[in-house]
Amino acid sequence: MKENKSVIGVLGLQGGVHEHLNHLDRLGISYRRVKDKEDFEDLAGLIIPGGESSCLSRLLNIFEIKEVIIAAYNQGMKIWGTCAGTILLAKSVVGEENCLGLIDIEVERNSFGSQLDSFKSDAVIKVVDNEPLPLTFIRSPKILKVAEDINVLLKIDDYIAAAESDNVLVTVFHPELTESLAFHRYFATKCGVKCNTNENANTDNDWQNCGWARMARVA
Ligand code: GLN
Repeated sequence: MKENKSVIGVLGLQGGVHEHLNHLDRLGISYRRVKDKEDFEDLAGLIIPGGESSCLSRLLNIFEIKEVIIAAYNQGMKIWGTCAGTILLAKSVVGEENCLGLIDIEVERNSFGSQLDSFKSDAVIKVVDNEPLPLTFIRSPKILKVAEDINVLLKIDDYIAAAESDNVLVTVFHPELTESLAFHRYFATKCGVKCNTNENANTDNDWQNCGWARMARVA
């Protein structure tokens, strides 16, 4: 009998890779940093971190893994994109060519302004957690439109900040740069992967000391 897939991969080319790995570790989830073709075999899910989408999209071509990701997605691998990851996954990007085009949304890059317009807030996202979740926006895109079959998880003012299809989750903010594990737990459930209920087991607060997290505290 074929075993259920249980590993979540984090695309390890550029951006907030370590912080996602740290959150998966704290939840007791099996994880793997992925960047070469053979790394994508048998993943239950893939996280595409924030960073710089133009840079990431070039690296996907250099490492020849764009088609590999699309093939794995077609075979059932779930994908979660945070910030730049959302841009890579969007079917439509204002003024630019799309990259993976795996979720029917339209995004606008750098829609809040410059890096200095980064900010933090919080919101209750019912399907993810009953408590308010901390939200960290770093030169984020806005999701401007979604197709009818896309579920909006969070709308703020005139833009959508989180959405999902059956197989793809997108957040324009960075749950990996906060202490909250709720979004990682939610994605694991979407992937059919079990979390270790003792979520403090591996907590060493590493995420607080890495570069992106420091930036989020300053912003
Ligand atoms: N501004 C970046 C881009 O357009 C995204 C920033 C981020 O991932 N925090 O790719």
